[in-house]
Amino acid sequence: MVDFSLEPKQIELQEKVRDFAQRELVPNARKYDESAEFPWDIVKKAYAEGLMNGPIPVEYGGHGHNIFESALASEELGAGCVGIGICMDANTLALTPLLLGASEEQKKRFFGQIVESQGVAAYALTEPNAGSDVAGIRSTAILHGDKYILNGHKRFITNGAVSEFITVFAMVDPQKGARSLSAFVVPTKSPGVKIVSNLKKMGQRASVQTEFIFEDVEVPKENLVGGEGQGFILAMKTFERTRTGVAALSVGNARAAYETAKEWAKNRIQFGKPITANQGVSFMLADMATEVEAARLVTWYSAWAYDHGQKSKNLLSAMAKMYASDVAMKVTTDAVQVMAGEGYSTDYLVEKMMRDAKLCQIYEGTNQVQRLVIGKGILR
Ligand SMILES: Cc1cc2nc3c(=O)[nH]c(=O)nc-3n(C[C@H](O)[C@H](O)[C@H](O)COP(=O)(O)OP(=O)(O)OC[C@H]3O[C@@H](n4cnc5c(N)ncnc54)[C@H](O)[C@@H]3O)c2cc1C
Repeated sequence: MVDFSLEPKQIELQEKVRDFAQRELVPNARKYDESAEFPWDIVKKAYAEGLMNGPIPVEYGGHGHNIFESALASEELGAGCVGIGICMDANTLALTPLLLGASEEQKKRFFGQIVESQGVAAYALTEPNAGSDVAGIRSTAILHGDKYILNGHKRFITNGAVSEFITVFAMVDPQKGARSLSAFVVPTKSPGVKIVSNLKKMGQRASVQTEFIFEDVEVPKENLVGGEGQGFILAMKTFERTRTGVAALSVGNARAAYETAKEWAKNRIQFGKPITANQGVSFMLADMATEVEAARLVTWYSAWAYDHGQKSKNLLSAMAKMYASDVAMKVTTDAVQVMAGEGYSTDYLVEKMMRDAKLCQIYEGTNQVQRLVIGKGILR
């Protein structure tokens, strides 16, 4: 039997993150959108309240959340501020290859370091000539004695400039190309790690994206994660796990925009009656409400499939990410339309929600790439 009611433990987590997001994210969303600074004060509070590193097992200092619990948390963060939420979730993205491929000793060392410093990590896959086409990565890490020498160029790396370490993907054998892609933990302070610039961007401005050049960076052999040649599969398995989180952030963003527009519309009088008395407005709100529910359902289904080891988990996570982020783009745009002039103004957050929504259609694989994954999955 299908049962959509949450367990007491799940409700407790949902309420805890909702309370945090409404108390800390909502009142600060505009401030960080304007300053485009990393919200350290909020991340530190999230640490203090046990809201960081949710999916990291308890024995390494995390909270042992499964993907469904992580999705509940991410929806609430997304309803507060996607920009601040992604600062927290991108840390999980960076730690996921370690969760999937690191040795016991590495997990203790690296998770321990992040938890102790109350810091964040970054995930570095993308390069100027390798965006959607991950196999086009040109960074190299060549073994010399007991060290790999890393050279390369990465861009758009979320949390990059503020991170403790970066999970970097590079080839160990350029002759073998993408088949030799491997994952490394690179401390950001290592000599040769150079920050070229931080991205100026449209939305999710609380989070920073850094362009790095790696010049003869010495990476200890013990920082190779999952063995040589395991990088491509680790990167793909990471997205299979984390895309549901992007979907959940999108559901939260769409929900918040819909609720803001609905409450505003009920009180807006034109032609002597609330604008909601016009079907032109109430039908928009009806579509928005339905789309938020549908996006949440596919997100929960994807999370459930992952947690239950279903074969369809990769397909569903691509569907959830694609559908929920497309819904968020539409619902936030419609929220601005319902609120018209006031929606477009910075007096309300819906214009920011609309800008924030756009990025969820782009990162962790564009929605065209998700359609490629889905197409392959259904036509196999
Ligand atoms: C704010 C931000 C944060 C990011 N954070 C990170 C991060 O933390 N770590 C990281 O490694 N990367 C990160 N990225 C990179 C992000 O994942 C890439 O931008 C994304 O994968 C797309 O790559 P691209 O921008 O190079 O676009 P391209 O790959 O150049 O794509 C351009 C267009 O072509 C389309 N396209 C490409 N190939 C195909 C195809 N085969 N079929 C159909 N359409 C196609 C794309 O969908 C897109 O519309 C971030 C990006 C941004 C903007």
